[in-house]
Amino acid sequence: MTSSYDPCRANYPHSTSSRARSAVEAPANDTGSDKVVDPALVRFDIGHSEYEALIEADTAFWALARKDRSEELLRDPAFLTKVAESGSLFSAEMKHLRFGLVPSAVYFNPTERCNLDCTYCYIPGQMRRHGSHMSRERLVEALETLLEFFHEKMPKQDKPQLIFHGSEPMLNRANLFEVIDEFRDDYIFGIQTNGTLLDAEALEFITSRGISLGLSLDGPTPEITDRTRHTFSGHGIHERVVEALEKLRGYKNYSVIATVTTENLDHLNGIVELFHSLEVPTCMLNQVRCTLVGGDRVRPDDQLFFSAYQSALERTYELYQESGRKLVVANFANVILGVVAPTARRLMCDISPCGGGRCFFAVSAEGDLFPCSEFIGLKTFSGGNLFSGGLGSCFETEAFRSVTGRMIEEISECGSCPIRHFCGAPCPAEAHERNGGLNMRGAFCDFYKEQVRYVMRLIADGRENDFLWDGWDQEMPTVFELTMD
Ligand code: SF4
Ligand code: SF4
Repeated sequence: MTSSYDPCRANYPHSTSSRARSAVEAPANDTGSDKVVDPALVRFDIGHSEYEALIEADTAFWALARKDRSEELLRDPAFLTKVAESGSLFSAEMKHLRFGLVPSAVYFNPTERCNLDCTYCYIPGQMRRHGSHMSRERLVEALETLLEFFHEKMPKQDKPQLIFHGSEPMLNRANLFEVIDEFRDDYIFGIQTNGTLLDAEALEFITSRGISLGLSLDGPTPEITDRTRHTFSGHGIHERVVEALEKLRGYKNYSVIATVTTENLDHLNGIVELFHSLEVPTCMLNQVRCTLVGGDRVRPDDQLFFSAYQSALERTYELYQESGRKLVVANFANVILGVVAPTARRLMCDISPCGGGRCFFAVSAEGDLFPCSEFIGLKTFSGGNLFSGGLGSCFETEAFRSVTGRMIEEISECGSCPIRHFCGAPCPAEAHERNGGLNMRGAFCDFYKEQVRYVMRLIADGRENDFLWDGWDQEMPTVFELTMD
């Protein structure tokens, strides 16, 4: 009996895990084996004319097999031996990714206020309208306390990331800029902003210091953007954000989030065209989070969302072919990485437990500690207060443990889902608020399945690198970078 398989389609030699999942061809000869199909390998239809996936869900091992040969392959001792051999390595890798990481980043809200009233915001309106700013003294105290904590947790050579987040951090700009300069040697700073307050002076400050910047824009035209993103008095903001993006042309350390809702679903191609024309290096097409009722109201249907999303991704591919310049859609690229090299993933929503409360956490403008910004506004998920000595103990509180202990295996339907480690059933906040509990699925299950099928099709056709950052496999190790809406 002879058997061979040809690891010909994909090779990721620089992956930290050497997680070289390959498109495999079953042997042309009869294997002659009666071996029982490995029960852990599940056949997964990826909607490709020639290939289907064989997935071992627990270890996140996968292979692409020719459909007409997969039965034979599943009886091929050489293949099954390979799966078994890689199992312990992949298992250890998933275990580390899911349970072995330490906190290395914080989302920090320096103010409760925002100048906008976006339809889907997860921060209560009263807080955004009338809330308080954190004083400079409080900011300094907070950053010192956080630094001490990170020094205890992280390897000495690594700097923690601190992302000023919203509400709208630029409303507390003077204090923010002062502490950024004061702590410039201690943190890698980022600012997530709605982009409406970025005047020339602010942009000069940010770009001259290489600060990572995230902006938001939901449409290709004012008419579309302003449906979901506008001031409290209903005024549009599209032009102001585009103006800031014009000025950022050439800066490499920024990204733009478009939140996908029913209001812009039909305009995703136009959005990526606008971003590409503005030379935006990285964007996200994030599904709206349905944690609060405002988001749920504009939640798109899964299938319609996937269809528009795939079309926009293919449009970025065309633009790349035409111009030689990529517009990476980071949330999609992250799912590709989750499949081909899980430890290279840069965002931590698509894994269970998610990154909230274990890789990073959030601090409100009052100093309250939450597993993730998505929980700000849900008081029961507060794990204490930074200014009352709560930082050391918040990770042990029920509020945090309930999120960090959320196991995909214990979620009905997800427990038997072959792609559970490429999806993670995000988001726990959404699951809790809209679906009845942390141990429920989040939103967009069908969307996730389609997205993973699409990733696998791209791999089968050898196209996945066209959607990834150039040199992504040389920048290892990466656990995650932070950009959220
Ligand atoms: S949410 Fe859906 S796609 Fe994701 S792991 Fe659960 S069943 Fe699978
Ligand atoms: S899944 Fe939700 S709670 Fe977890 S990191 Fe993502 S946004 Fe935060």
